[in-house]
Amino acid sequence: MKLPPLVEPAAQLSVDEVRRYSRHLIIPDVAMDGQKRLKNAKVLCVGAGGLGSPALMYLAAAGVGTLGIVEFDTVDESNLQRQIIHGQSDVGRSKAESARDSVREINPLVNVQLHEERLDSSNVMELFAQYDLIIDGTDNFATRYLVNDACVLLNKPYVWGSIYRFDGQASVFWAEYGPCYRCLYPEPPPPGMVPSCAEGGVLGVLCASIGSIQVTEGIKVLTGIGEPLVGRLMIYDALEMTYRTVKVRKDPECAVCGKNPTVTELIDYEAFCGAVSEEAQEAVKDSTITPKTLKSWIDEGQSLEIIDVREPAEWEIVSIDGAKLVPKNEFLMGDALTKLPQDKKIVLHCKSGVRSAEVLALVKAAGFTDAVHLGGGIVSWVNQIEPQKPIY
Ligand SMILES: [Zn+2]
Repeated sequence: MKLPPLVEPAAQLSVDEVRRYSRHLIIPDVAMDGQKRLKNAKVLCVGAGGLGSPALMYLAAAGVGTLGIVEFDTVDESNLQRQIIHGQSDVGRSKAESARDSVREINPLVNVQLHEERLDSSNVMELFAQYDLIIDGTDNFATRYLVNDACVLLNKPYVWGSIYRFDGQASVFWAEYGPCYRCLYPEPPPPGMVPSCAEGGVLGVLCASIGSIQVTEGIKVLTGIGEPLVGRLMIYDALEMTYRTVKVRKDPECAVCGKNPTVTELIDYEAFCGAVSEEAQEAVKDSTITPKTLKSWIDEGQSLEIIDVREPAEWEIVSIDGAKLVPKNEFLMGDALTKLPQDKKIVLHCKSGVRSAEVLALVKAAGFTDAVHLGGGIVSWVNQIEPQKPIY
């Protein structure tokens, strides 16, 4: 689908700009007209992290006239493996300021606007209204749905990307011409179902692969060249080294961009994405114990099967004495349920109590109606019972 240019061209390029952008100017599809459009463009990057780093650097180099950066975090040493807009000497600094300094070094002609605040329902509309295009580099579902809904309500296009380990996805969501993020993913996954990069890791260079797709799409949308990823989802697999696209259709029943939208203003996105499933909420009623209760059961010598549903890498860091490791996935696949002892009380726990609540619903449904889970998980256990052990 070919779309009209998003922004009008600037009146003219200076001599310095002609020199700087000459390799763009001699591409017939970009040429003077396209470069003037980039000069006039206002692009907001949500996040100056893994995806925001390459996105901001290439948008700056390309000559986007105004670049906004929404970021409230500070640079941490663990960011440097992939967030290449920041360097060693930036550790501890504001990420927004660090990113601004890098952008200025790449291209001093760019006007950089910093928004050092957490994006939420109270500020998103006013912020997005100042820009033509949004680049979404966030890594959590609450912000993704917030960005999507705000863009639909403001009728703005945005370029979305996501990364995890060796896999990436990208698309352009623009409700006027195609689907939005909710058409593709109407509901957020249950908490704990999709681990973040902080929990599961990410290959650093994957950020460049997906971030550069986002910039490419941004330039195409701003200047009206080529076929943007509107109505298509790009799926990248670094291990197989494959890129494939799948069609994404606009959902006529979409809650925000459909015919009869139920979301006509911003909602509480933390609540929308943060609640545990209804099954888990039901399962934990009257079946949640405190660390003190568990300790007293252990001290009384009760017949217990304490099951830790975390991952082996987490178990290596800290565990409760006497517990057995059975990762949550083994319950989801079904094989773990058949191995549960019938003559002991089942006590489930995870890191914070979210994953164990989900497993508790499965265990109870399988007939272990007196099973319980540890509220607050091993974090609460360590804090209250064994403070000498590490938490993470
Ligand atoms: Zn939609």
